[in-house]
Amino acid sequence: MKQIAVLGSTGSIGTSTLDVADAHPDKIAVYGLAAHSSWELLARQTQRFQPSLAVLTDETLADEIDLSQFHPETRLAFGTEGLEELVTATEVEMVVTGIVGAAGLRGTWKAIEAGKDIALANKETLVVAGPQIMKLAAEKNSRILPVDSEHSALFQAMQCGRREDIQKLILTASGGPFRGKTIDELKTVTREQALNHPTWNMGPKITIDSATMMNKSLEVIEARWLFDFPTSKIDVVIHPQSVIHSFVEYVDGSVMAQLSPPDMKLPIQYALSYPERWSGVSPRTDWTTPFSLDFEPPDREAFPALDLGFEVAERGGTCGAVFNAANEVAVERFLAGELEFCHISRLCRDILESHDYQSSPSLEELLSLDEWTRKETYRWNY
Ligand code: MG
Repeated sequence: MKQIAVLGSTGSIGTSTLDVADAHPDKIAVYGLAAHSSWELLARQTQRFQPSLAVLTDETLADEIDLSQFHPETRLAFGTEGLEELVTATEVEMVVTGIVGAAGLRGTWKAIEAGKDIALANKETLVVAGPQIMKLAAEKNSRILPVDSEHSALFQAMQCGRREDIQKLILTASGGPFRGKTIDELKTVTREQALNHPTWNMGPKITIDSATMMNKSLEVIEARWLFDFPTSKIDVVIHPQSVIHSFVEYVDGSVMAQLSPPDMKLPIQYALSYPERWSGVSPRTDWTTPFSLDFEPPDREAFPALDLGFEVAERGGTCGAVFNAANEVAVERFLAGELEFCHISRLCRDILESHDYQSSPSLEELLSLDEWTRKETYRWNY
């Protein structure tokens, strides 16, 4: 039995993780759950999984919630202290990090410090502090297993050959709802259009990131640190069906792909089961019906976020933290109707260019830069 803690249990990754746990009660035990503020869903999850500990990181809820809705054997804790207690608990073997944004960094850091294995769904952790996180994980013998579907695919395809024989890691991107649009057409797109993703059903932040292709930029940076490959060996190809989740190209020209219908339960389960494979809870490929797969190079002019991501991955240092925080705030402001769609990438570039670059910052410096960036990004207008 593997005892897990799920951070962000009420979100998209969290609920899928619990579906996987539900399908494998002989293999996975849920020791603890953490959510920010959705306490009613968290309460229902405690009834279903009877975890020892449940955490609400929003401390202000302590007086508002109805304790009788939680399972009687689940203890409730609050705030970052509660989160820390959960990820460092002796019983916990693996922490699934499904918290969106830079908010997920602290909990992941504490879990690695405690030597826990990580099923990493929070890409921002590596975008903000990739080198620091990977160094800590190596020191503490903590394994970081990717949950992001592209990185899970790369990880699986990398097992077909030797690391030194890899020519390229090629991330696939659906292209989002605006694939094929020109820069001019993108100037007038609406919030509702941006939230309507053609193949993946995800939370609002990542859905907007797919529309701008910021998500792929964040993933390029994530791949750069997770697998320790230079950006010159990382590439992106548009694949609208989202069936192939990424490719690894070897020096002899052989290309290994991982494919399956788009569903996050598969990469989540693989992170939990690795190195084993368990019978699937996700839909399987239907080979009885004809289907075809398409590929095309990305339009880097219409989606400038992509080049920006490669630059950030290349420069490293403080760039990832600034890029990520600027994008989080820009997306928030776009969703609030304060920014146009095209301004998201432009704002991220402007903030990046105005920040005080350092090549090897400490975690504390990165966190204070994250704060600076947020304030700065709220101030800018076009
Ligand atoms: Mg992904």
